[in-house]
Amino acid sequence: MTPEPHFTIKNRFQKRSELYEDILNRDILRDVCQRLTGHDNYTVNFDNTGYNIGRLATLEYNGIINYISFSEFEIKSRNSFFQSFPSALVKYNQEANSRKGIYFYFLKPDGNIETYYFMFMYRLMKTAGTEFLNANDYLHNIINPFNTVSDIIVQRDSNRGRNKGNASSYVTIDENDILQIFGKTYGANKYETTLLCLAIYKITPYAIELYEIQEGDLKQLPKDARNVILSLGIKVITSDLTLETKEFENNDSLRSPTYIYNLLEKLGEKKCSFCDCEIPQIIQGAHIWPVASIKKANNVNIETKLKNATDGDNGLWLCNNHHKLFDINMLYLSQDGRLKYKADIEELHEGYIKSFTIKNRLSNDILTSRFIEYIDKRNQKLDNDQYVYIE
Ligand SMILES: [Zn+2]
Repeated sequence: MTPEPHFTIKNRFQKRSELYEDILNRDILRDVCQRLTGHDNYTVNFDNTGYNIGRLATLEYNGIINYISFSEFEIKSRNSFFQSFPSALVKYNQEANSRKGIYFYFLKPDGNIETYYFMFMYRLMKTAGTEFLNANDYLHNIINPFNTVSDIIVQRDSNRGRNKGNASSYVTIDENDILQIFGKTYGANKYETTLLCLAIYKITPYAIELYEIQEGDLKQLPKDARNVILSLGIKVITSDLTLETKEFENNDSLRSPTYIYNLLEKLGEKKCSFCDCEIPQIIQGAHIWPVASIKKANNVNIETKLKNATDGDNGLWLCNNHHKLFDINMLYLSQDGRLKYKADIEELHEGYIKSFTIKNRLSNDILTSRFIEYIDKRNQKLDNDQYVYIE
């Protein structure tokens, strides 16, 4: 005879005066058991070891361990609804047994759980391998996994448009063909960062680097989540101002994760401002006020210099060609955001530049007052009269 399905319920259900009986009553456990095993008899015990492992239960049957994460009741903020799921996913990933599954179960929600952001998060969860046990009872839409990273980026960005200021993570590809995830580590943002890593890992052929962007006092993701991410072969890099200061002092072409993060935050996905090229491997952050000049500035302390060098307003996304032409001042930005080129260059070169410079003016949302200050600083050393507008 096969032993009965056996639930182990994690301790968090007994905290915060949420008694297990109030949440996971017999009907719910029977429903879960039925859906996963086809049986409605089970045994149950509590696991009071460890802490903060989410609203999690396991159901063992036939040598298979099923991890079931239960939704929160209250939908206070968009992330609180998901706060215990990533811990469940991390716990699941730590389980050595290969006969296992991860599931999400909706407890009768108190509010709208089908917003654009919620659907985005469900899709990430599904991409990371989660099955939804009772989504049909509560959602009108079907939860489809993401097939590609650009699919994730597109959805993430259209969501961002609706919730300006809520952005916490970015995904891009660098010039060495490495997929970079920039994620914050504080509060609700850490859940999204963890989930993004685990979902992207499933679908990308690229090597992955996670940049932990310091927020508040927290430099790193929680240890368990971090270890799971590392165990997948994802390189984790912690943003570190001391290190960036050193890099700044020793190098005129600053490689700074903070700068890239700030540019992504201000400008969005990589796209050359002068030609609309969107191939991320050949697009770089181009300083308006160059690092070498910042370093030479008088009466400015090192903290302020580093701030200027990593300021999202002190830069544009430019393709390799436009970056180089801008760096050698063959191209020139006037204070109103219009683009000029050096008048005395060879006609042949002029024709070439015109042929692939399809934008001759920056959009107004780029032209903040700080951005214009940086243009002024850059242009102090240049002679405006030597340049003509690209018409
Ligand atoms: Zn370009």
